[in-house]
This record gives sequence, structure tokens and C-alpha cells, in this order.
Amino acid sequence: MPKGKQTQLITAGRKQKWTKGVVNPPIQRASTIVFETVADKHHATLNRANKELFYGRRGTHTHFAFQEAMVEVEGGTGCALYPCGTAAIANSILSFIETGDHILMVDTCYEPTRDFCDKVMKKMGVETTYYDPVIGEDIENLIQPNTKILFLESPGSITMEIQDVPTLAQIAHKHDIIVMLDNTWAAGVLFNPFEHGVDISIQAATKYIVGHSDVMLGTAVANQNYWDQLREQSYLMGQCVSPDDVYLGLRGLRTLDVRLRQHAENSLKVAKWLQTRPEVDHVRHPALETCPGHAFFQRDFQGGNGLFSFVLHNSVPAATTALLDGMEHFKMGYSWGGFESLILANEPKSFNKLRSVANPNFKGTLIRLHIGLENVDDLIADLEQGLERYQASIQDQ
Ligand SMILES: *Cc1c(COP(=O)(O)O)cnc(C)c1O
Repeated sequence: MPKGKQTQLITAGRKQKWTKGVVNPPIQRASTIVFETVADKHHATLNRANKELFYGRRGTHTHFAFQEAMVEVEGGTGCALYPCGTAAIANSILSFIETGDHILMVDTCYEPTRDFCDKVMKKMGVETTYYDPVIGEDIENLIQPNTKILFLESPGSITMEIQDVPTLAQIAHKHDIIVMLDNTWAAGVLFNPFEHGVDISIQAATKYIVGHSDVMLGTAVANQNYWDQLREQSYLMGQCVSPDDVYLGLRGLRTLDVRLRQHAENSLKVAKWLQTRPEVDHVRHPALETCPGHAFFQRDFQGGNGLFSFVLHNSVPAATTALLDGMEHFKMGYSWGGFESLILANEPKSFNKLRSVANPNFKGTLIRLHIGLENVDDLIADLEQGLERYQASIQDQ
């Protein structure tokens, strides 16, 4: 993380106007905002898009503090809030797309993003082309006259491919295409989207920003070109969030740097240990050379976190079950980014449904881990026992 970023995470969004002299901005709940004078009401109407209280749906001081903090931390011009990451993705796309448009979607996108394109966008007469996450300059061959959005996610969901974001963004901008990035893995701080050519950076704040597995929250930070349209369209679609949830997002920012550093240290140790195991074919940890796109991680990212995958030599579902059942610290759960460790398995055939053009065709099972803040040696011992159950089960077959 660049020097000064830690300080920014501590101070972001904490100006006196929001905090009223306490450390954390109070939770301000409102549907109705009341005005004493016609002049006050007029002033609020004129400035409702500029952090003046106007109507509960447009946010209160708690929301404004978090929105301001996200812009300070991630860059860009303004931050729209959504009830979850999936809503942030769907509404960011909907804010700019029209019938007859075309989307270039990374093949390794989060599964609900794919479903949104295949189900909702298709119904609206919007065509989606999936592209290989490591396509690089060849993206230009897929651009059509009606291409409106280039959507990126880096590293890719489950298989962790890291994209060459600056190259992709530069080509998209030559054709006036909006560049959107699902920046959830980087938590808004490990990868700087606006310095790399992204126009709208989207996050499931549900993950590392909240960081404690207890809140659903989505953010989309836009640059100057796209902020007004994103904000207005989001209001028109009724997107709003509870101030309690926003408060927890804001609180999560304060400890984000220390949490990420510990997640990263633990996960790298576990990843390197996995590389020594005979059951493991390769490890897809962005900080290791065996991860596709590792060079872009080295060039563009400020650090790592706890989420990575590894691939086993074989696919033996009964043995995978023996591994997964009986884990002590790694529970099976989808929403990562909390303090706790998680484990999920994907058998090779699951990618037939999850990929259109970039099926990795693994011979063996993929295991995705989220490495939490437990003692790392406890985690390795847990995985060691899991792999022993796996081996024993294979021998029984
Ligand atoms: C979890 C996740 C989302 C969706 O966030 P929700 O808040 O669960 O809707 C989107 N993108 C990525 C990469 C995610 O991991």
C-alpha cells in the first residue's frame, strides 16, 4: 500500500460537518427532511446532488461521510451506494446501456454478473460477448460499432486470472467505450482503478470493506465523465442503503490496511505450503508465478489479500467431500472478506457452465480458499488433515 494510504483510511470522510466532534459520524436515520423556511427548502433542492440533506432516499450525513471516504480512498469524483455488490454491478450497467447496445464482459466475471447479462440484458435487447481475461490487445477484434461497455474483473472469480487493465482500457477509450471494473478483490486499495484507466470502479463492500461478514453493501465510484449520469440513474432506480450498514462500511475502512496485510501474510504462507504438497497441481495465488497474469499483479497491485485458489491433480468428488467435511477452521461459505477462513470446491465440469471462452479445462478439482485472521499454523494443520482425508479416500476407491 502506498505511503500515506493508511493515514487516508483513518481520516477519510471524518470532517466536522459529518462527525459533529465525535470520532465516528453518528448514524443519522431519515425518510423525511424538514425545512423551516422556503429559502432553506430551495437551497436543499438546488444542492441535493451535492451532499445537502433533501430526502432520505438521497442519503443523510452518514451516507455522505461514507461516499466521501470512498472517493478519497479509491479516487474518482463520486460514489453511488447500493444494497449489495450485485446491485452495484447491475445498476452501473443499467445506468448507461440502451436497447441495441453491446457489452464486452470478461469470461471470469462473478456468476451473478454473467446471469444478469444472459437473463436481464438479453431480455432488453442487449448483446453480450464474453472475452478471455488475458486477451490483451486482441480485445480490439471484439469491439463492435454498438459496443458501449467493457467490463473487467481482476483477478477473475474463482480462477484468479489477472488482467492487463491499462492496455484494455486504452483500447476501449479509443472507441469511446466505458470501462467498468469489479474491483472487489482489491478492496479499493490494492489496485488503483482510476490511475489504470477505469471509468467506474465497482465493489461488493460486503467483502473486505465491511470485513466482518455481517453486512451487504455495494459501491460504484465514477470519474468526472460518468458521475452525474450514474448518480441520477441510481436515484431513479430507487437505490438506497440503511445508514446502519453504511456506518459499518465506514468503520471497516479504519482497519482495512492492517486486516489486508495480515490476510496477505497468512495466505502467502498457506499458498507456498500448498506448493509443496504432492496432491496439488498448481496454486493460483496472484503473488505467485503459477497464477495466470502474475506479471500484471506485480506491475499494478500494491499488495495481496486472503483469497486464492489451487488445483488438485485429480477430480475424485468423494475424496473432495472427505476433504471438505470435517474441516475445523475452514467452513464452506461464499461471501469472503470477513475475518474467518472459508473453503469451496469446483469440480472441473462446473466450469462448462461458468465459462464461455476461457474454460481452463482443469484435470483436477479447484479449491478456493479465503484465508482469515486465525493463527496461520492452525490453518495449515487443518488443511494438512483435510488433504490426508482426501488421500485416504482416494486409496479406498
Ligand atoms: C461477492 C461479490 C460480488 C457481489 O456482492 P454482494 O454484495 O454479495 O451482492 C460481486 N463481485 C465480486 C467479485 C464478489 O466477490
